Amino acid sequence: MGIQLFKAKYEIDECMAEIRECLEVGWTGLGFKTVKFEEAWKQYTGLPFAHYINSSTIGLYMAVDILKEQYGWNDEDEIITTPITFVTTNHAILKSHLKPVFADVDDTLCLNPESVKERITDKTRAIMYVGMGGNMGNYYEIVDICNKYNLKLILDAAHMTGTRYKGEIPGKEAEVVVYSFQAVKNLPTADSGMICFKNGDFDTIVRKKSWLGINKDTYARTQNMGNYKWKYDVEYVGEKGHGNSIMASIGLVQLKYLDRDNSFRRQICNWYRKRLEQYPDLIKLVRIEDGCESSCHLFQICVENRDELIIALNNADIFPGVHYSSNINYKMYDYAKDTCPYSDYVSDHTISLPLNLYLTYDDVQKICDEVIKFVTR
Ligand SMILES: *Cc1c(COP(=O)(O)O)cnc(C)c1O
Repeated sequence: MGIQLFKAKYEIDECMAEIRECLEVGWTGLGFKTVKFEEAWKQYTGLPFAHYINSSTIGLYMAVDILKEQYGWNDEDEIITTPITFVTTNHAILKSHLKPVFADVDDTLCLNPESVKERITDKTRAIMYVGMGGNMGNYYEIVDICNKYNLKLILDAAHMTGTRYKGEIPGKEAEVVVYSFQAVKNLPTADSGMICFKNGDFDTIVRKKSWLGINKDTYARTQNMGNYKWKYDVEYVGEKGHGNSIMASIGLVQLKYLDRDNSFRRQICNWYRKRLEQYPDLIKLVRIEDGCESSCHLFQICVENRDELIIALNNADIFPGVHYSSNINYKMYDYAKDTCPYSDYVSDHTISLPLNLYLTYDDVQKICDEVIKFVTR
């Protein structure tokens, strides 16, 4: 099999027990474990609201949609965003008929605050921020910009599950935080996510919108408990976006081990850093800000001849990845061509080395040997 970029590690027996309970009770759907997981998530993060959804993609789509509707934004209003992300981040903006305006990233691979400021116009409504690889980048400078210019902050925290800043889970400053529990993320469940609004009214709305717009509370209060509640009102043309109890079962178990797992991820990153920082002219490490305890979703470096390095590693049975090709390379975003030079550099030079909980110290040494052999050849 070689050394894989990602390989999810589960507490299998505990997950099976939790899933078994769903099967025995005869309920795998919305409610039951999904409610328990939402409560556990609020407890873990300290965020006031959390709604469990079937992917972070649907969460980002609903986040932008709800903010647009609730704040009365117009079509073609602008959201400043990053080109270095999974394409879903930017599709969420387009889907709501808003305009992604790309700002550049810096050596944290997150948005560069100076570049963001240059992109603000009288049509700017929000900033979409991605904590790349679990790092915070200049998040708090972005928060300040949002406050100063009265912009809403949307945090795509797909990589940030378990990231802390000075001991606390960040995100309370944002209008909405969206997490991913997709198959390769730090809290893997196959597919699901969490959407956490700051405003409780928006949380109420997203609960309806994630279930086709159904308002199941309308008649619930007047019905006898235990009756199948067939009568409901439909308030929105919503999505089928809510999570289910099977995924939530896995999430509930994995959440218990998230901090333990992330601390081993940090150990792996430290092993990498210790070797690779010996070659500052040849290997550029991602800058981690003081006070940020990253979830270490990714370990990324920038090198010359990145594509050749990938082949060299593949030949040694090591399978790295790339996060990400600049989204400006894709046709729906190519209107922003040549506006983000450092992102173009990152897009061509960055590589994600294997980072998963099955790695050993010796695996990391072997990967470092191969990388160093390549860059010093
Ligand atoms: C994985 C990922 C997503 C999408 O997550 P899904 O749960 O698969 O929809 C969004 N943004 C970023 C940055 C991601 O890495």
